[in-house]
Amino acid sequence: MRVDVVTIFPEYLSPLDLSLVGKARAAGLLDLRVHDLRSWTTDRHRTVDDSPLGGGAGMVMRPDVWGLAVDDVLGLDAGADHAAGPGAGSGGVELVVPTPSGEVFTQRTAERLAGANHLVVACGRYEGIDARVAEHYRSRGVRVTELSIGDYVLNGGEVAALVVVEAVARLLPGVVGNPHSLVEESHGATGLLEYPVYTRPPQWRGHEVPEVLLSGHHARIERWRRDQALERTARRRPDLVRRLRPEELDRADRAVLGRLGWDVGPDGPEPAAPGADDTGS
Ligand code: SAM
Repeated sequence: MRVDVVTIFPEYLSPLDLSLVGKARAAGLLDLRVHDLRSWTTDRHRTVDDSPLGGGAGMVMRPDVWGLAVDDVLGLDAGADHAAGPGAGSGGVELVVPTPSGEVFTQRTAERLAGANHLVVACGRYEGIDARVAEHYRSRGVRVTELSIGDYVLNGGEVAALVVVEAVARLLPGVVGNPHSLVEESHGATGLLEYPVYTRPPQWRGHEVPEVLLSGHHARIERWRRDQALERTARRRPDLVRRLRPEELDRADRAVLGRLGWDVGPDGPEPAAPGADDTGS
């Protein structure tokens, strides 16, 4: 996969040289390029922003500078304002625009993006990027996704780009050493949060590892982990419990959910009593 990140702070992306993403780059599994948006400016001051039309606080990033940058990294014909250029809209090319007003980034989004051949991440600053940039590339047939990494406001898109690139890169074949470790994770196919995990020593500062994990009894361990995952999900993320599919819940699952105040009907789990899905937070 090729990923281009365009930013006015290329150094902000230096953590992508480290750990599994850094190794994936070194191994050629991920062709990640970080670009300075200012290299597409044409004025002496290398200006990337201007005041908001209509008035108001702050500055807005200019569409002309972003247009040159995105055309270049996507390999589109510069200045072709209408109709898709060669390659535009062809499978697997995606422009990701981090913004707190975007759709919320989830593991499903990461899985979808991991299927792309080429991602371009456009990191905004100030009040964000002129809205015509996303509109323009959509009109040229490029898939554009405006993504929020959560309901809070950061100063710029770089941290969001780090989040998106790491979440996507670890799904690429060969990036995580043991692909099995991706299977049972939180937000995976089971729809549950992961069960609690432990390692040696079995006693630590008066805290014991649950006895079942030392039993060597694989079926019991598996059932215990499933119960813990259900319980943790019900307590912390009742919104996820509501989305569980009834056909994937066995009798033991239903008993655990029942103890936690959930009934499993034909449409899935529902709180047995009002407030049962209140996290208490
Ligand atoms: N004025 C914008 C608003 O209220 O929606 C906020 C702009 S924010 C200060 C500047 C940049 O930070 C955004 O253009 C975006 O790139 C990034 N950013 C801030 N919060 C973000 C979030 N929750 N998710 C993704 N990107 C975010």
